[in-house]
Amino acid sequence: MLLLSVMEKLLLEVVRKFNGTAFFCRKFEVLNIFNKRWGIFLIKDIVKDVMFLSQKAEMATEDDKFIARDLLDTLKANKDRCVGLAANMIGYNKAIICVSGGLFDFVMINPVITGRSGKYETEEGCLSLIGERKCVRYNEIEVDYLDVNFERKHGKYSGFVAEIIQHEVDHTKGVVI
Ligand SMILES: [Zn+2]
Repeated sequence: MLLLSVMEKLLLEVVRKFNGTAFFCRKFEVLNIFNKRWGIFLIKDIVKDVMFLSQKAEMATEDDKFIARDLLDTLKANKDRCVGLAANMIGYNKAIICVSGGLFDFVMINPVITGRSGKYETEEGCLSLIGERKCVRYNEIEVDYLDVNFERKHGKYSGFVAEIIQHEVDHTKGVVI
């Protein structure tokens, strides 16, 4: 057991040393196992592969909880240019998004938009794409989702936060603006 824990510490050191290095995260999927077990802070590289992003995301289960943390960490690391992320943008094809809500960032698991009103046209950019593109959004939306503890929630959102949620929910459907 002692040997194992020394080994674990060494592995942790290696992981921390390469933390945030896209090459390392992608090449060594085993890191995700460490991530699940020890909750290591991992900033992920942003996926720009449109083929991958065009897939419909699978429903997330409690085994995917660690993705929520990776999303929040990656959002924090990209705060200067990003207000929301979907899990497929960091390489996990699961229906999990995170949103910068102004005062705090929050996660929505398996989000479904159940109500929308106040249609308008706008242009949006995306961290996975170059430039801005036209899209249709709604000023008020209602969403069913699970929170980070997998508890059922229902929320009403408007304005910019609603727009971010709509953009990220589109990602979970494989829709890239
Ligand atoms: Zn996007």
